[in-house]
Amino acid sequence: MKTLVVAEHVRGELRPITLELIAAAASLGGPVEVAVIAADPAAYTDALNVEGVDEILGVAVESDEFENDVYQQAVEKLIAERDPQVVVLGFTVNSMGYGPALAAKLGTGFASDVFALREEGGELVAERSFYGAKVNGEIDFPGHDRVVLLLRATAWPPAEGAGSAGVTEVSVEPTPSRARHTGWVEVQTGDVDITTADFLLSVGRGIGDKENLEQFEELAQAMGATLSCSRPLVDAGWMPSARQVGQSGKTVKSKVYLVLGISGAVQHLAGMKTCGTIIAVNTDPEAAIFNVAHYGAVADLFEVAEELEKLY
Ligand SMILES: Cc1cc2nc3c(=O)[nH]c(=O)nc-3n(C[C@H](O)[C@H](O)[C@H](O)COP(=O)(O)OP(=O)(O)OC[C@H]3O[C@@H](n4cnc5c(N)ncnc54)[C@H](O)[C@@H]3O)c2cc1C
Repeated sequence: MKTLVVAEHVRGELRPITLELIAAAASLGGPVEVAVIAADPAAYTDALNVEGVDEILGVAVESDEFENDVYQQAVEKLIAERDPQVVVLGFTVNSMGYGPALAAKLGTGFASDVFALREEGGELVAERSFYGAKVNGEIDFPGHDRVVLLLRATAWPPAEGAGSAGVTEVSVEPTPSRARHTGWVEVQTGDVDITTADFLLSVGRGIGDKENLEQFEELAQAMGATLSCSRPLVDAGWMPSARQVGQSGKTVKSKVYLVLGISGAVQHLAGMKTCGTIIAVNTDPEAAIFNVAHYGAVADLFEVAEELEKLY
């Protein structure tokens, strides 16, 4: 299936999701065209030239940073010129800013937060969750010869390997944006970015009390881990929302995810199940977290923490 991927980049760096989108697009058999909309598209073409990409479409625009109506106009023009069957965007704040509008305007099929895709008898089938991730369902798009999809981050392994894609410049003259990117404002909390941590120590309601948090902050520090948590700890005001893992928090992909006292609700799993090695400690042998854990201990988390403290 001919698929158009729209690259995401921020502050001069390609976002990791772009390579995941390429992998997803390539799994549909191709050809795969990747559009990069930027002040200097050539700055990104090397990073985009990976296995599975047939052509890179460089669209030069005024601002290097994302502006939703510029992207919408550019992608609309690319669709008219290149006629892809599938248009693949990230399920990200940027793409949510124009993907649905684009689909509505063009009358295409549409699905967001897609985590699996396949072609069946020449038709596209997408999978996504419903009802707060309590059930998964399949979607097809009868009557649509074109589909716009927003794909979930970390659901596909990033495309890699050297590619041999040609680069084509596409000229677009968007009408002036209603919303302009004027600059970046740094988050003032001084908090960490759990999405880039290699080792997360994640605590949940099993720790019992806010007073117990300090012990796990110290343990995380001693182990060289970053502390993250489940949602109830954020709802209770014990931890900042930047530390929350899950559907309404952050999607993490640490190499190690050590999880103490978290039951493994689907909304939590949605944010961490692709971590490299998941080690779970829970007193309940039936806890759902053990379904995704590579290693598990049915044990009291405080006893485990005490033993770990002796080691570090
Ligand atoms: C729309 C929506 C979005 C949501 N988004 C998120 C999200 O992004 N992230 C998220 O985490 N949740 C989210 N939730 C909430 C989610 O459904 C769960 O309620 C939540 O994940 C439960 O957190 P928990 O596992 O810490 O607590 P609990 O489910 O209460 O589990 C505590 C666990 O600790 C164990 N335990 C207790 N004492 C000990 C001990 N001494 N030693 C070892 N184990 C012990 C228990 O056996 C239990 O399994 C969302 C819910 C909805 C409806």
